[in-house]
Parts: sequence; C-alpha cells; structure tokens
Amino acid sequence: MSTKKPSPPPTTLTATCNCAAIQLSVTGIDKGSVLCHCSNCRRASGSAFAYNHRFLPGELTFAKGEEAIRQYVDTNTKSGNPLERHFCGTCGCPMFMKNPQFKGLIVLHGGSLEDHRVQPRQELFIEDKRPWVGEVTSKKAKL
Ligand SMILES: [Zn+2]
Ligand SMILES: [Zn+2]
Repeated sequence: MSTKKPSPPPTTLTATCNCAAIQLSVTGIDKGSVLCHCSNCRRASGSAFAYNHRFLPGELTFAKGEEAIRQYVDTNTKSGNPLERHFCGTCGCPMFMKNPQFKGLIVLHGGSLEDHRVQPRQELFIEDKRPWVGEVTSKKAKL
C-alpha cells in the first residue's frame, strides 16, 4: 500500500473590495497563508503586517470589476524580486499580488477574502516584525 498523499484538490477563494466594484476569485493549489512583515507590505497594507494567501498555480477570475484594478510594480522589495501589487482604483483596497519570478503564483490579500479563517502557517521577514506582534508560527515561509 502506498502512503503517498494524493495531490490536494483545487480550492477556490473569493474576495471583494470595500466599494464592491471588484469581485474576484482564485482557484488553484492552496499553499496557505503567510504573514509578511517587510516594510513594503506594511505600507501597502496600511497595517503592521500583510496577511497573504498564496496559490501556486492559481487562476484568477473576475465576477466583476477587472477594469477597476490598478497595478503598482514594486521594484524596491526586500527579496529583490519585483512584485505586482494590484488594488481597487476606486476604494484603494489591496486585492492580490503577482511575482513574475514565480509563474502562476497568485497572492490574495487575506483581509478582503470572504469567510476566511485559516491561520497563517508561516511568517516572512521576521527580523522586521513589530515587537508587540505576538507569535503566530515559528516556521519560515517558502513556496
Ligand atoms: Zn473598491
Ligand atoms: Zn512583504
């Protein structure tokens, strides 16, 4: 008998922005959530850290509002990889990111996900973590 786990079935998560102009979903292989403590993610999220849910590969589908999406290519990243940050052009909510280094990767921002209760598995750039943020996990993130 084989003890190998079968590959997981594709998962779908749905996200909406505050003005509801954008409704999108991602279907794909769920790699779980990570917290990112880097200063660029802090600024982009307006918070002490970003809560990012990763799909690799993931497929993005817009129920509505694809034309409302704006993109900022963040080239000054700590990893050195450019990040395409996508947000609502009307209300400014961060929606998802892509990283050209990882083809097929879709990173959804956890704050805009509907009914999402998955605890992050990993943290990125812990050296930049605000000292008052509690322990979430000790695992280092990798894809
Ligand atoms: Zn919006
Ligand atoms: Zn980051």
